[in-house]
Amino acid sequence: MPLIDRDPLLLTPGPLTTSLRTKQAMLHDHGSWDRAFNRVTADVCRQLLDIVQGADTHVCVPLQGSGSFAVEAALGTLVPRSGKVLVPNHGAYCARILRMLGVLNRASVELPFAEDQPMDPAAIDAALRADPSITHVAVVHCETGTGILNPLADIAQVVAAQGRALIVDAMSSFGALPIDARSLPFDALIAASGKCLEGVPGMGFVIARRSALQASAGQCHSLALDLHDQWVYLQKTTQWRFTPPTHVVVALAEALQQFQEEGGQAARGARYAANCQRLVQGMAGLGLQPLLDPAVQAPIIVTFHAPQHPAWSFQTFYEGVRDRGFILYPGKLTRVETFRVGCIGAITPNDIDQVVHAVGATLHQRGVLSAT
Ligand SMILES: *Cc1c(COP(=O)(O)O)cnc(C)c1O
Repeated sequence: MPLIDRDPLLLTPGPLTTSLRTKQAMLHDHGSWDRAFNRVTADVCRQLLDIVQGADTHVCVPLQGSGSFAVEAALGTLVPRSGKVLVPNHGAYCARILRMLGVLNRASVELPFAEDQPMDPAAIDAALRADPSITHVAVVHCETGTGILNPLADIAQVVAAQGRALIVDAMSSFGALPIDARSLPFDALIAASGKCLEGVPGMGFVIARRSALQASAGQCHSLALDLHDQWVYLQKTTQWRFTPPTHVVVALAEALQQFQEEGGQAARGARYAANCQRLVQGMAGLGLQPLLDPAVQAPIIVTFHAPQHPAWSFQTFYEGVRDRGFILYPGKLTRVETFRVGCIGAITPNDIDQVVHAVGATLHQRGVLSAT
């Protein structure tokens, strides 16, 4: 039975806890033909482009659906049917890209890395030199499956030097970690409304190099996921092709307003880093250790080793913590038993203290903590 009377806080990497202002923005209905609504769409896209300083070289194409829809749309639109994609793989979201390419009938080459190790730019360089038929590289910036951060700037330099195109799943880093399109070359950078921008889920977007998008007409295998078609229609009419997620868009506009008020990407990243630090310290006090070396841990989500105790079960642990007002996430690793705690969303280090308290109380109650 819940011990609290508020909505639980989500310590998950999307959907996540949103502010009251963001929720309140959804109390109005908007018509998809309405000029005021279409101005909101244009304004949101302009702001998203500005977050990565992409206005001179790139365009922002919004897309209905969760983040994966936008990833699949970027791959399907920008990789020609004769293309071949190198996919460095050290986690669940890298594996999802490989699966998408298989479904899309685009050739791919997997470059595996250990789950607790970042991608190595030198290995990517070697793989590209070894196979000149590779046209694109698709990487995940922060692999949310573990919380590991990849050296995106170095990877981008290697890919550009080899004359290949880069597609980046920046879903869980966009808005929180620095990405600058003026110095970091990419053809597509993909993110969504419901992650570090602290909107609600329902809309993805692709920051696409204008020239690459222009060259992609007719390439997509799908009509609904065709970013070129979506972009052309938006430019021509100012409207979304097909029904827009109106409430999601106005909530994102409101969330972006708060993002700017907070101080933009640097301030957002600093708050998440403070959350992450407080979390790791607090959990260490309970004897719970993170999977990753601090040097490669992104301040987005932390994977912890489950306690080595016969009384441990994620399900009962989850329920105990939930009844105390917090939603955690199961681990995504196959070899070791883990659970994950997100650092993102409209939460502060004070909330993290409460999470740690709830985790400690739950483990005590279950008799797990004494032996850890
Ligand atoms: C959240 C996320 C996605 C998209 O997942 P959806 O379930 O489709 O929202 C893709 N890549 C990464 C790295 C993510 O964190």
